[in-house]
Amino acid sequence: MRYSDFVSEWDGTPFRVDLIQDFPNFVSEAGLDALLAPVGLLADKIEAQLGYRIVEMGDVISVPEGAPPDWNEDLDEFRRTCPVPREVGQVHFFHLDNYVPGVRDAGAVAVPDCGAFAITKYRVEREDWRPDDWAGPVMHELFHLFGFAHIDGYDGRRGVPMSRALDDSAATRGAESATWVDIDYLRCIFPEGG
Ligand SMILES: [Zn+2]
Repeated sequence: MRYSDFVSEWDGTPFRVDLIQDFPNFVSEAGLDALLAPVGLLADKIEAQLGYRIVEMGDVISVPEGAPPDWNEDLDEFRRTCPVPREVGQVHFFHLDNYVPGVRDAGAVAVPDCGAFAITKYRVEREDWRPDDWAGPVMHELFHLFGFAHIDGYDGRRGVPMSRALDDSAATRGAESATWVDIDYLRCIFPEGG
């Protein structure tokens, strides 16, 4: 089974999801906390089912030193170069200050090879944007990092398929969208102890 290189960083230490504070000013501190909160819920849910932790809610952090100017404005470039210095086992949750090339209305995107996922300008700048609504998409993109693929068109060659609930979560669901089956797959991908 093939996964992204990110998956191979697993050594039994829970991945830490940090939110890079590079959002527009109208996103409040409480809003940033709300974006991260579903990661904490997922961490507990995984531990309740598997008996150990795979992920942890990290902190709101400033842009890591060494990231070039405009690091979050060009997704293709980000994918090519992974421009933000990252610690092993760290996940960067960031604001893509642009649209996804070719998919202008995409609200979120994962970059597994860079250990990162983002909420996009398309969504952040909409007037009806509320951080509390983002539990579902955060789960969905995080599971892409964990090696999960969309269920429709899944060909068995890369990663494992998402449950229907997790796959649909970008549009409809909250943190509960990670099902028992999704979490059971995590046990195989990230065995206890590394
Ligand atoms: Zn997806």
